Amino acid sequence: MRDARMSAATVPASLSATPPVSHLLGLTRPELIARAVEWGFSPVHAATLWNEIYLRGRRTPSEFRPRDHLPTRFLDRVFSELAFDFPAVTRETRSSDGFTRKYLLGLADAHRIETVLMRYSGRTTACVSSQVGCAMGCVFCATGQMGYTRHLTAAEIVAQALHVDAVLRETAAAEAAAAPALADPSHPSPHHRHERLRNLVFMGMGEPLHNYDAVMRAIDILRDPCGLALGAQKISVSTVGVVPGIRRLAAERRPVHLAVSLHGATQEERAALVPAARKWKLDELMDACREYTATLGRRIFFEWTLIDGKNDGPGHAHAVGALLRDIPAQVNLIPLNPTCGYAGEPTRPAGARSFQDVLATYGIPCTVRQRRGIDIAAGCGQLAVAEASA
Ligand code: SAH
Ligand code: SF4
Repeated sequence: MRDARMSAATVPASLSATPPVSHLLGLTRPELIARAVEWGFSPVHAATLWNEIYLRGRRTPSEFRPRDHLPTRFLDRVFSELAFDFPAVTRETRSSDGFTRKYLLGLADAHRIETVLMRYSGRTTACVSSQVGCAMGCVFCATGQMGYTRHLTAAEIVAQALHVDAVLRETAAAEAAAAPALADPSHPSPHHRHERLRNLVFMGMGEPLHNYDAVMRAIDILRDPCGLALGAQKISVSTVGVVPGIRRLAAERRPVHLAVSLHGATQEERAALVPAARKWKLDELMDACREYTATLGRRIFFEWTLIDGKNDGPGHAHAVGALLRDIPAQVNLIPLNPTCGYAGEPTRPAGARSFQDVLATYGIPCTVRQRRGIDIAAGCGQLAVAEASA
């Protein structure tokens, strides 16, 4: 069954589809301004509309009219030409430690995706999805076990970040209501009235480099200095190893961080866990990684899901050390989140520490990702599976 989900022949040839943008959230600010001018309106109206959405958190067409000094004719034209809606929250779960909130969002066509808000160590991070399901079929991954349904649009990716931003606003409002003396409603910048979203990781459902154009368009929109203004250094794109996508990131000199999911340090062991490795072989992947680090002068994060007795022994760690010897790298170890479709168990903490110690002898920095949120099925795709089977 699993083999049928993803073979070299079934990986779609194109990296991404590029349908015309028909949703307000899929437009960059210059594009929105150009549309307004095309329709015969002042660029100032477009800039105001943009600010209302990204800085003041407007979420429905009806929220604009009475107060924003935007002509009704302009708003009518915008909302007749462009969709403007947000996915509905169909389920929210919070981890027992209170730091992780996971949202199952319902898209306009009723498909479900996951978005996670993480707030710990003073960092606020949104983990967003890039596709409904995934074509890559990694055997231990709940999303891979679902198979591929479709790419998300840039608007659907932007909407996830704005959803997290809205949650942060609501949290700030609730805190201000509880302790009004601490609130400062007169602060000139709407940004500073609530905790800002600072970090964005593409580690939710789907393979972001399989949906390259929409992901990069969403990143451009979210980086806009007049909008959420995320720093490029605060954005990470995690890939299963889509070689043409890695090469394109380097050629386009995209300033985001790159994480590559490795899981196996030989072609055979990797392909057993990551069927996509049959299409993009380990040697070719390592060449693309070297090219990326040489072109951009930036290290790559390598992710390694630790599976008890499968890829967590000292021999595996030495193989990783040897493989990454000439690449500026950091390794992130992720103990397996068990899923229904895969019989593996997570490596215990002592085993993870030994793996780390071996990598240290190669001079490779290595962290073990804390499994926060595990009690809310915070592994990729796990909430959507739970919902579908509930
Ligand atoms: N498709 C991309 C990004 C989404 S998955 C990729 O594969 O990199 C983000 C990370 O979670 C990947 O490193 C993936 O291998 C890991 N992952 C997926 N399912 C997991 C599970 N059940 N337990 C631990 N890590 C998992
Ligand atoms: Fe897709 Fe990433 Fe899951 Fe693999 S781990 S199936 S690439 S989402």
